[in-house]
Amino acid sequence: MKKGFLLVISGPSGVGKGTVLHDLMNTQKNLVYSVSVTTRKQRPGEIEGVSYFFKSHDEFEKMINEDKFLEYAKVHNNYYGTPKDFVEEKINEGKIVILEIDVQGALNVKKNTDNGVFIFLAPPSLSELKNRIVNRGTETTKDIKLRMNNAKKELSYINEYDYLVVNDHLNSAINLVNEIINAEKHRVFREEINFERE
Ligand code: 5GP
Repeated sequence: MKKGFLLVISGPSGVGKGTVLHDLMNTQKNLVYSVSVTTRKQRPGEIEGVSYFFKSHDEFEKMINEDKFLEYAKVHNNYYGTPKDFVEEKINEGKIVILEIDVQGALNVKKNTDNGVFIFLAPPSLSELKNRIVNRGTETTKDIKLRMNNAKKELSYINEYDYLVVNDHLNSAINLVNEIINAEKHRVFREEINFERE
């Protein structure tokens, strides 16, 4: 069976990764979302096992010691990690596994695998990003400041990615990501072709 690949999507908090991914999951076949493990507090509306697996610090550290993560990082003072077993199983089943992870995590995945496609989702501007985080209304003023500082750092890593998608108009951003996935699916090295030369 044809193996799947990892689709890594990063971008600053508030850029709209969740909305873009939600749409993709409904329109693209063969995609699975890798649910991360985090020590961050559950936000209203988030569902255990769907949004994240919510764990204590001790539980997370135990998982690190048991080598359960493909990658993990400390983001905005909380741990976040990608469970290794799930990802490996789905790739072997031929799925495209979506990792919505931060820049540090993406760089670690890039170091450890040659089977990843890396997309950076960027805001049209920093002021627009701030508006979106403020309007979401889930973060304290202190948290907003922290997330904006991290956004500036994250944006400086765009060159490490394969594709840049600016989320100015949601539908255009979604279309662009769909096109990238379709193109990547047809990369020759992923195809199982066997036409012999005459
Ligand atoms: P949030 O708290 O807003 O859900 O996520 C904060 C940041 O953590 C986002 O940039 C998100 O992409 C990142 N993140 C979520 N899950 C993971 C993960 O498993 N690993 C890493 N490295 N980052 C993650």
